[in-house]
Amino acid sequence: MERVRKKQKQVPTAWVEEKSRTASLAERSWRSARAEADFQQFEPHLASIVGLCRDYSGFFAPNEHLYDPLLDDYEIGMQTLMVQEIFDVLLPAQLALLEEIREREPIDDSLLHQPFDRQKQWDFGMEVIEAIGFSFEHGRQDQSLHPFTTNASLGDVRITTRIQPDYFNAAFFATLHEAGHGLYDQGVHPGLSRTLLAEGTSLGIHESQSRLWENLVGRSRPFWVWAFPKLQAAFPGPMEGVGLEEFYRAVNKVQPNFIRVESDEATYNLHIMLRFELEVALLSGDLTVQDLPLAWNDKMQAYLGLTPPNDSLGVLQDIHWSEGLIGYFPTYLLGNLVACQFWQVLENDVPDLTRHIEAGEFAPMLGWLREKVHRHGAKFMPLELVEKVTGGGLSAEPYLDYLRAKFGEIYSLG
Ligand code: ZN
Repeated sequence: MERVRKKQKQVPTAWVEEKSRTASLAERSWRSARAEADFQQFEPHLASIVGLCRDYSGFFAPNEHLYDPLLDDYEIGMQTLMVQEIFDVLLPAQLALLEEIREREPIDDSLLHQPFDRQKQWDFGMEVIEAIGFSFEHGRQDQSLHPFTTNASLGDVRITTRIQPDYFNAAFFATLHEAGHGLYDQGVHPGLSRTLLAEGTSLGIHESQSRLWENLVGRSRPFWVWAFPKLQAAFPGPMEGVGLEEFYRAVNKVQPNFIRVESDEATYNLHIMLRFELEVALLSGDLTVQDLPLAWNDKMQAYLGLTPPNDSLGVLQDIHWSEGLIGYFPTYLLGNLVACQFWQVLENDVPDLTRHIEAGEFAPMLGWLREKVHRHGAKFMPLELVEKVTGGGLSAEPYLDYLRAKFGEIYSLG
């Protein structure tokens, strides 16, 4: 509370009013600009947002980096130079991996794009999240346009999903992702209830929990050894003649996408690094808002080999900037990295983890997460928690090792 108070006291009331007014107008403008794929409508609003963020940073001067006070609002204790150092390792390694994958035969994932009964999709997701330990005594799932997690208290944790009738991944992986957030919230020690500590410690650590269940579990072979027979029973039509291996490869297909939220594990981080670099350039004045769409498209081409056909599929796709959320995107990537860092320790600490997952026994794994991560709530700072669990700092290596091993096998890379 003291930390938050100190930071907020350095920000003048007039700035808060101005920011609030500007972001309201900007978000409305963004909605219409995105619908019409017309960046020019949004441009003056975004320029105001960038100016306000620069002023905000100035309230905390001197800073090692202009971006630091913004980043710290979303990921407390994180510094721009730390993020830059990690990205310097990650970017060339991920680009090299993607290039290797692109030389291989693309995976056919058409089996995922078939009619899947809505109710059965819902039932299948509910069965799986109940099995991994999401408590319906202390939470529920509903449907919404965009999946999210919220809670009224530690005993009332609510998640949502959305169902697409002709694409399996949309509902299932959103359900698992949000259940991962939900498990974190449900696992906070009841002794912290009704305090400021009764929540996840940061956006990045929260995302590590959702990604861990969505990807490290939900897109793993051991998981589908357990879940695939259930899937076949639920969807005999679409799954007719489909084997476990074919299904596993399909849910792990790598294909560069214009849209961040629809991206696979091998390309997702590239979307984040692109946004981070552009945000830093905008703040420092190296890039003008006017030139942003071009800079966006150049980086998309350089990183993903794609040029968006219009700005709705490019620079206008995310809501964040219109709401004034500059400094937020790195938390998504940190979540991916921390998930793999935790996973390495988990694999070491829980004997026969793979066998447990293949048997649908998630209690040993969830027990470990509860003990090491969930029960602490926001008691430790994010980097402090990483240090406590892994014995070290933030690192890109476990994520890179994971990507190389997994996709190396799937795509028969050298
Ligand atoms: Zn999330």
